[in-house]
Amino acid sequence: MMDLRELYQDIILDHGQRPRNKHAMEAPSHFANGHNPLCGDKITIYLKMEGDRIVDVSFEGRGCAISTASASLMTEILKGKTEAEAQQLFHAFQAKVTGGEAPAPDEALEEDFERLDPLSGVKAYPVRVKCATLPWRALEAALKSGAIGATVKTE
Ligand code: ZN
Repeated sequence: MMDLRELYQDIILDHGQRPRNKHAMEAPSHFANGHNPLCGDKITIYLKMEGDRIVDVSFEGRGCAISTASASLMTEILKGKTEAEAQQLFHAFQAKVTGGEAPAPDEALEEDFERLDPLSGVKAYPVRVKCATLPWRALEAALKSGAIGATVKTE
């Protein structure tokens, strides 16, 4: 049996080195910048929403392997989700990597949520938690700010 931790490391390495959906977006309906000064991660999240549904999502910037892999995995599961579903995933993910409490996401989101499991290992490294949650915090800011844009900074 393959060691789960090894598998998780492989997934993070793969997404860190060949991130999906890493490109700027023309005329996004929502966007926000995330900055994690502790590590130096700078990430911009772009969304194209139709009504309350995310029809396209991408990111750009530079960051460590963890923040890049997290942004890549996040963009992969968010396409087609509603804003409410994205919020559910955000809160559940935050709990997953901080060891905090959050309601489990709806059954329909379970499979997507499991795809974020490789990042759960950061729980043991508080500095890395900020790297992993940065794209999600930028997502939340983007959902709030719309086309005006916003900047969030981890403290
Ligand atoms: Zn980082």
